[in-house]
Amino acid sequence: MRGFILRFPNGKPKAMTFSYDDGVIEDLRLMELMKKYGIKGTFNYNTCFYEDTDEPAARLKISDIKAVANDTQFEIACHGHMHPYYTFLPQAAATNDIMTNRKKLEHITGKIIRGFAYPSISAFNDISETALKAAGIVYARMATRNNNFYLPENWFRWEPTCHHKDSIKTYEEFSKITNPRSKPLVMYVWGHSFEFERENNWELIEELFEKCHDNPEIWCATNMEIYNYVNAFESLVFSANGKKFIIPPQLIYGEFLIQPKKQVAASL
Ligand SMILES: [Zn+2]
Repeated sequence: MRGFILRFPNGKPKAMTFSYDDGVIEDLRLMELMKKYGIKGTFNYNTCFYEDTDEPAARLKISDIKAVANDTQFEIACHGHMHPYYTFLPQAAATNDIMTNRKKLEHITGKIIRGFAYPSISAFNDISETALKAAGIVYARMATRNNNFYLPENWFRWEPTCHHKDSIKTYEEFSKITNPRSKPLVMYVWGHSFEFERENNWELIEELFEKCHDNPEIWCATNMEIYNYVNAFESLVFSANGKKFIIPPQLIYGEFLIQPKKQVAASL
């Protein structure tokens, strides 16, 4: 065997994924554009800001978050309950913030939430990585960029390829790569949707969606779909000569253990 490399669904060699932070009201316009072009996206939410009001607000309402959660085109991920600087938090406080964020999002959405985006450039360190693992998070996106198209070596330090302001130029490079024997490639774009409003450049992201939405080489997926796909690939079981593989059994049984009822003293 000369080798066996991952290909995305339908044999595609490339994937694209988008990640947007903070749960601001402009997310709704971005999602409309994503719906128009069939683009998938991950939206990272804090949980201390939501305003359940009928007044115009800068942040999404609880009802908006529920609607996003029910749309399979989008993933909701954690972004820290209080949007803290984990670098400056003790271990227990960091773990508590992430767990609070996850529990609240799971309560609002009714979904299992396992993704995360660090709330600042300086937020990742050993404390936050330990806290994320303890809270059951499986990947964490950094707020930096590396200009490359490779899958992360460490899912807790998943660095985007570019910010959306550089995405057209980056996409031109990405689409020109034609080496079917290379490792799978991912172009990862991140940002905040309020930046489009602030910079008055919504046409930038629409141009990118127009370019990439019908590229037959590209699988457009949420962050979690990429994580799950790669992990499923890595769990394949191979024969010793590497010529055969099986997919591990999917039917797994488990049982919830119920706490026994408290024993009551019978001496009354
Ligand atoms: Zn943020």
